[in-house]
Amino acid sequence: MDGKELMKINVSKVIIYVLILLLVGSLFASVISMRNTEIKEVPISEIAQGVESGEIKEVTVRDNTVTATQQDGDQVRATKEPGISLTEYGITPEKARIEVQDTSGSAAWFSILSLVLPILLIGGFIWFMMRSAQGANSKAMGFGKSTARVFMGNTKVTFKDVAGQVEPKQELVEVVEFLKNPKKFHDLGAEIPRGVLLVGPPGTGKTMLAKAVAGEAGVPFFSISASEFVEMFVGVGASRVRDLFLRAKRNAPAIIFIDELDAIGRQRGAGLGGSHDEREQTLNQILVEMDGFDTNDNVIVVAATNRPDVLDPALLRPGRFDRRVVIDLPDRIEREEILKVHTKKKPVETEVSLGRVAAITPGFSGADLRNITNEAAILAARDNRKIITQKDFSEAIEKVMMGPERRSRMLSDQEKRVTAIHEAGHAVVSHILPNSDPVQKISIISRGMALGYTWNMPLEDRRLQSKVRFEDEISSLMGGRVAEEEFFGGDNITTGAQNDLKRATEIARKMVTEFGMSDRLGPQTYGNHEEMPFLGKDYVEHRNYSDKIASLIDEEVAKIINNAKTKAQNVISTHKKTLEKIADALLAQEVLEADEFEQFFTKTSKQGAVAS
Ligand code: ADP
Ligand code: ZN
Repeated sequence: MDGKELMKINVSKVIIYVLILLLVGSLFASVISMRNTEIKEVPISEIAQGVESGEIKEVTVRDNTVTATQQDGDQVRATKEPGISLTEYGITPEKARIEVQDTSGSAAWFSILSLVLPILLIGGFIWFMMRSAQGANSKAMGFGKSTARVFMGNTKVTFKDVAGQVEPKQELVEVVEFLKNPKKFHDLGAEIPRGVLLVGPPGTGKTMLAKAVAGEAGVPFFSISASEFVEMFVGVGASRVRDLFLRAKRNAPAIIFIDELDAIGRQRGAGLGGSHDEREQTLNQILVEMDGFDTNDNVIVVAATNRPDVLDPALLRPGRFDRRVVIDLPDRIEREEILKVHTKKKPVETEVSLGRVAAITPGFSGADLRNITNEAAILAARDNRKIITQKDFSEAIEKVMMGPERRSRMLSDQEKRVTAIHEAGHAVVSHILPNSDPVQKISIISRGMALGYTWNMPLEDRRLQSKVRFEDEISSLMGGRVAEEEFFGGDNITTGAQNDLKRATEIARKMVTEFGMSDRLGPQTYGNHEEMPFLGKDYVEHRNYSDKIASLIDEEVAKIINNAKTKAQNVISTHKKTLEKIADALLAQEVLEADEFEQFFTKTSKQGAVAS
């Protein structure tokens, strides 16, 4: 239940209690007054007459209330004026028995009651308010309760569900072994792993692997994202950590999984803004808890990050996250296996080649691939088909890469022609330059933000990038703009190249400042880039070079881009005729597949061999 609900319950509780108190109070009061209300109220003169006539045998005086008992036993009551004695009304002891009751006791009691009751009421009210405030407080403290999602018993994920990742699994088997049979390790005096750090890009199955460890060992799995530790209030993160570890220890053996460890585990003192104290406290608490592990605690902390470089070194010391398991993006074979896992329960046409899907998705993570199988199934369902085809997969890949098709976006004929020329420009330059990836598909159907796109697909998974490759990639990116210039003149260039230019500039700048690929600046890096923890991909650059270097960097970046552009211009002016034919074909059929595209070049085959 959330805070609001809790407050609501507390408030209604208070209201109920107050109502009960009021009810009891008023009941009490009415019981007191009932003793009086049963008796008929008469004017004092009537009592005086009754006494005179002898009808009344007895008179009781209590303060100003005069109660008279008649011969027949009935009682009446009257109120006399204060300060006037009964004799003044003609009621004398000779005519009737007069009893004067000492009222001071009951009056005192009354006044005590009238004093105490409100105090009780108010006190009670305050008490309940306090209680509810405490409730709210403990809710605020409840922020300190960890919001970990717990899978008690079995996570039901096993190593079999994780496709590929052979080495990470091998390393984690040991952890499973320990959780299953800690005694074996203790008896030999073996050091038990306390923290395992899973390092790898997002979506590569780190969470899944951690769950699989818990699943294989059959132990509870406590999972929390590090960003969840950090809330508005300082100190909350630390108390959440405490709580999480306490819960895990109570349920030991257990796995604690901390996702996005870098959100709190950044180097201390390197933080930005006010959140940094909080992060530090939370991080310290994690360190304290891990150091405080008893050898018998049997709790293993598994953390995931894709930025091990920014982690505080204190986290990586022995006894903490001293084991690192690196999880890479899947290679082609692993991609196929992942696709198999995720199509197991889906009706896929027998002709579908998952191997082909795997081949054209280098750089895709496990999560991306799952996404593709899901999108393919959705596309088939949308067509009311019972089976998923290869075409669904191709379409799904493009959708995942560039967003959904937007056929409804209306382009004018001129815009269509500009887009066709622009895309043909990219494609021609990519095709001709020896170090760029082959063209897989060209399309002038809008998708996501793009009016058209040229899809270059690398032939193999690439772990290293070379300078020539970067240069040719920038040239291909320039191809669109250059083709526009060539066909429509320099004054008619469009905004269509915006994204190309941005990517080209990024690559060029990285070549100079991060990869040491500029002769004039040499093999050095310039500037420390740090990702801002809460703004995602934005960088803060700590400049660690002089103004002179800064302008040199700018010059070098400009040089790379201009050279690349010149290269593109040469290619395009040489192949202007072919380019136009390709653009016309695009206008006619909107999409050109790789083989259709290559037919335009049967005579001018690709120059040079691939050099890297
Ligand atoms: P991470 O924690 O590394 O960001 P996740 O474990 O959350 O990644 O992975 C997201 C999803 O991607 C998983 O739920 C799973 O469906 C899929 N996935 C990722 N890697 C694999 C893999 N190797 N085998 C099968 N599925 C995978
Ligand atoms: Zn473009």
